[in-house]
Amino acid sequence: MSERSRTFAIVGAGLAGAKAAEELREAGFEGRLVLIGEEAERPYERPPLSKDYLRGELEREKIFVHGESFYEDHEIELMLGRAAVGIDVAAQELELAGGERLAFDRLLLATGAEPRRLRIAGAELDRVHYLRSVESSEAIRARLEGGGKAVVVGAGWIGSEIAASARRLGVEVTMIEPAAVPLEHVLGAEVGAVYRDLQLEHGVEMLLGTGIEAFEGSGAVERARTTDGRTVDCDFAIVGIGARPRTELAEAAGLTVDDGVLVDAELQTAHPAIFAAGDIARQQHPTLGPLRVEHWANALTQGPAAARAMLGAGKAYDRVPYFFSDQYDVGMEYAGLARQWDRVVFRGDPSTREFIAFWLHEGRLLAGMNVNVWDVNEQLQELAGLRAPVDVAALEDPEVPLADLARIQA
Ligand SMILES: Cc1cc2nc3c(=O)[nH]c(=O)nc-3n(C[C@H](O)[C@H](O)[C@H](O)COP(=O)(O)OP(=O)(O)OC[C@H]3O[C@@H](n4cnc5c(N)ncnc54)[C@H](O)[C@@H]3O)c2cc1C
Repeated sequence: MSERSRTFAIVGAGLAGAKAAEELREAGFEGRLVLIGEEAERPYERPPLSKDYLRGELEREKIFVHGESFYEDHEIELMLGRAAVGIDVAAQELELAGGERLAFDRLLLATGAEPRRLRIAGAELDRVHYLRSVESSEAIRARLEGGGKAVVVGAGWIGSEIAASARRLGVEVTMIEPAAVPLEHVLGAEVGAVYRDLQLEHGVEMLLGTGIEAFEGSGAVERARTTDGRTVDCDFAIVGIGARPRTELAEAAGLTVDDGVLVDAELQTAHPAIFAAGDIARQQHPTLGPLRVEHWANALTQGPAAARAMLGAGKAYDRVPYFFSDQYDVGMEYAGLARQWDRVVFRGDPSTREFIAFWLHEGRLLAGMNVNVWDVNEQLQELAGLRAPVDVAALEDPEVPLADLARIQA
């Protein structure tokens, strides 16, 4: 079949989907290319939605992945406001909302993730917000601009960034988090304490070691009740308790789903014509094993990697996980993957909020994070990718260049 007569479809017009479409054209794919997104907006980036865009400091045009004419210029059929509602795997056809069917030769699933929702009394009250889309960011911004008092449920990355943005806009904030410190399960107690102190210093009230029991109010939320019996008055609430991959479509089609759509190292599902990338994909990573990464950099590079695989030029996607976060004047980048560790080593004093932390297990370096220290993350990625034994004294010594450490380890 000539390539021109082939149709490649991408479901999910987010970062992974948009970058995959771009790569398909870059790599010379000349067939029909359809990018389907249920949101009304063309593909955009989400990190600003809890940071500068939320605070009204970044113009709307800056959040989009591509300029407005990009899709037309590259003959990418961008179907917005359209959800894919079914996949007929045997016939290789997508069903779109409204009943239209679209035959595909290759399909990329890039449906992303959605916020986990609270199932507690009062969860459906007005003024209880979740953050994922640009629309939800704008709704929260409108609340923040109205001032008053916010309850933020969850001190993970999203909750922490929202709290920081809210404080910068002068809103009073109480955070409710069952762990002992923010971000405890990703960073551990010592580094989590740095983020707790940062919030406290900016006037956030931290209710740690307690959960949310209920929201109360007549029509709209007026107060939150915690599992340890406290009540907190508020004008609105924002819930950031994690995300879940949007796997319904894949599951209904009979693809294997287990905390994400299972794909091999090259991002192909068990069906040879169907691929997955971004937040939705649980990939067989060549060195880290089954892995699903809910971060911007992963969507940015995994989308194009899946596109190359769709063209039959796939390679094992072996990038080391990377993410970043900004809260107040503290920026960080994290490289690697530490699910379990027995030691955290610091280069620099964490209380100064200018340091590098390393996560080790049985003497091997699994991950590194630079906090307000810049231009070192590529070296951290290299080091963390090796998962090799390290000399702790050298890690701690700011005089030893990280690049040398990577060379020693290699
Ligand atoms: C507020 C916020 C802040 C973040 N900040 C950071 C950060 O600082 N650093 C970092 O590394 N990461 C951050 N992330 C994570 C990062 O944005 C995600 O990892 C990234 O957006 C994943 O891209 P994706 O393309 O896989 O999914 P998404 O961006 O979720 O895009 C998927 C798209 O598919 C659409 N879709 C779903 N189902 C269908 C269907 N059936 N039919 C049609 N369309 C469908 C969805 O509506 C969505 O538009 C943040 C995320 C959020 C929400």
